Amino acid sequence: MELIAPDHPQYDVLRRPALPHYRAIRPALIARCTSPADVAEALAYARTHALPFALRGGGHCFAGHSSTTGLLLELSGMNSVSVADHQATIGAGVRLAAVYRGLHEHGLTIPAGCGPTVGIAGLTLGGGLGLLGRRYGLTCDRLVGATVVLADGRVVECSQEREPDLFWALRGAGGGQFGVVTALGFAAVPSPTATRFTITWPRTHAADVIAAWQTWAPDAPDTITASLAVTADEVRVFGATLAPFDPGPLTGEVELRDGLTWPDLKRSFSDEDTPGDSVIHSKSEFFSSPLPRDTIAQLLAAGCELSFTPMGGACNRVPADATAFAHRGERFLLEHTGTDQTAVRRSWSIAHPHASGRLYPNFPDRDLTDPIAYHGPNYERLLAIKQAYDPDHIFGGIR
Ligand SMILES: Cc1cc2nc3c(=O)[nH]c(=O)nc-3n(C[C@H](O)[C@H](O)[C@H](O)COP(=O)(O)OP(=O)(O)OC[C@H]3O[C@@H](n4cnc5c(N)ncnc54)[C@H](O)[C@@H]3O)c2cc1C
Repeated sequence: MELIAPDHPQYDVLRRPALPHYRAIRPALIARCTSPADVAEALAYARTHALPFALRGGGHCFAGHSSTTGLLLELSGMNSVSVADHQATIGAGVRLAAVYRGLHEHGLTIPAGCGPTVGIAGLTLGGGLGLLGRRYGLTCDRLVGATVVLADGRVVECSQEREPDLFWALRGAGGGQFGVVTALGFAAVPSPTATRFTITWPRTHAADVIAAWQTWAPDAPDTITASLAVTADEVRVFGATLAPFDPGPLTGEVELRDGLTWPDLKRSFSDEDTPGDSVIHSKSEFFSSPLPRDTIAQLLAAGCELSFTPMGGACNRVPADATAFAHRGERFLLEHTGTDQTAVRRSWSIAHPHASGRLYPNFPDRDLTDPIAYHGPNYERLLAIKQAYDPDHIFGGIR
């Protein structure tokens, strides 16, 4: 383990999280960890010196859980991607762009998100929504094993057969709550060739497009993932299809890019999925039924940007108690974003009465700390697993 103090030339680069909201937070020390032994040493250091600590993979946590004024366990040095027998082993510090590049060399990929700098560990441990999710499930649904450093410094391998409770908890509730994951094993899938599509309308069409989208996109064939974005001047339905493009009931100005390799298709979304330097506030929630027309009208009048992500397909065919990710009956996730936090909260409140009351663990909201919202009926089992693996609550999180 290398300890990096504020006067080290690398300190400012390493301490900087992806989101500007948390960039002013300065860790007392950074522990650069490149192995499970390093992680165990860093945890012992934090304990001996009574320092609070945080784990940092890609640094995209919306609630700032990967920032600290104590000891920052920086994991980006665990950056290997290897493949054997269609199983991918990926270090906890690898970012998504490198995951797609590394696996594509073997003709493989995994269903995961678009943000090129998002960390594979953080994304997988909270679920993992992406453009292949309706075809192959959440990122965590492809997880077959993980190496984990526990609170007491022990290193364990977990899978369906070994430490099965821990393995269950990691798939949807594992972000910083049970141990430090140092490597993840995935059942990979063929890296497809796909079509990127965008259908665009002026913003005046937004109410009709939302109404049509929400009854179509969550039930569309597994081969198509169509998200919806409402911005200040337009409404856009966009995504990827593995089959000839079929826009269902949506008619508008269509732009298609055919024959993209999977890394190229992901790269085409890089700009919109990379955080910039302005603080953008967001709040989100799952919905298991469509929004009524009058609520859509109120939301549009409130003026925030709205992003709708479809669920359904393979994500919803996994039983809610098969993994810790409980949200298997949801139709879509709605995210409200904007530079004015009060306006974002107002927009969220308009939609909230129609929501299922469930939150995506990877979009944590500092206003909403009720663990049932994040874990639903899986909460009680998670509490018992927490008690077994982290009885002294050194990792914080679920109570
Ligand atoms: C620009 C952007 C694009 C996004 N795109 C998507 C998307 O397409 N799909 C999607 O599902 N989500 C997406 N997200 C949300 C993303 O999944 C979460 O922010 C995720 O937690 C990020 O992981 P990270 O490693 O980058 O973040 P970090 O902030 O480093 O970590 C996030 C959480 O995971 C914990 N953690 C990190 N590494 C480990 C580890 N090795 N062991 C145990 N716990 C660990 C941390 O303690 C923290 O609680 C996006 C977020 C942003 C900001």
